[in-house]
Amino acid sequence: MNMKNSIEIMKIALEKKVLLPAMNIAHLPMTEPIINAAVDTSTFILLEVSRIDWNNFGAGSIKDIYNEYMKYKNNIFTRLHLDHIPVIDESNIRLDYMTFIKEAVELGYNSVMVDGSRLTLDENISATKEVCDYAHTFNVAVEAELGAVLGHESGPIPPYEELFSSGKGFTNIDEAVRFMNETGCDWLSVAIGNIHGAISGAAMNEKKPEARINLEHLDSLNKALGIPLVLHGGSGINLDYVRKSTRLGISKMNIGTDIRQVYEWALRDEGSLEKAQNALYERCCKIFKTDLTVAGKANLFF
Ligand SMILES: [Zn+2]
Repeated sequence: MNMKNSIEIMKIALEKKVLLPAMNIAHLPMTEPIINAAVDTSTFILLEVSRIDWNNFGAGSIKDIYNEYMKYKNNIFTRLHLDHIPVIDESNIRLDYMTFIKEAVELGYNSVMVDGSRLTLDENISATKEVCDYAHTFNVAVEAELGAVLGHESGPIPPYEELFSSGKGFTNIDEAVRFMNETGCDWLSVAIGNIHGAISGAAMNEKKPEARINLEHLDSLNKALGIPLVLHGGSGINLDYVRKSTRLGISKMNIGTDIRQVYEWALRDEGSLEKAQNALYERCCKIFKTDLTVAGKANLFF
């Protein structure tokens, strides 16, 4: 069987309006139970890792995750994605983003994300285009971000209701069209009411506040862009909004905090790696079957 690349997979997700869960690997032993849950429930998923997962948590490195993924991967149900390589990171430090991107592409990651959302529009376009020009020669998909999906920064974020009702930081539609045309990015991470889970301080271990989605704004973005859109900060978004978003162009949703906490808390309370992996497996099965109702749909991607 010819293995479809991630660009093709996401186009199918968009056409068929089926969400691809993208599961963040915050700790290496999370890889096996997540893939088992996908295979056992016949769910197509992406496994992904961000710089935060190896800097702040236990994912090791781009290479470590790749090696762990290769042990358990299943070409019928899984692909590997490099999440969030920021041009300017959450502590306002500029990164040599191309080095990370090149390492992942050379290893064999199926898609990559460059996050220039802290730059000006012109700078974001130029960094994203640089990554696209490089990655596309290897048929590797590129995800970019426009707008402000807050939450990773260490300072306090504005109260959620204020953020949602003001629409502050939401992805601007005209800018998004220009961005897509000039960069050639395959997928766009949008800011439409979603927030990231906290990665530092006490909030890192607290339950995430529930978020909503401005569906009208999403609808306008979808109509103007027509490419697969990505919802970051999937943990804790009201599920009714998630399901409606899938009908309006959201093809991939990142899930980090939820599964990280299930794994970490089980490990802390039970003191057993096997029990933590089992808890994570059960949680993933529930996410695929009940929360997102994407179980049993992997055949759409064959
Ligand atoms: Zn994100």
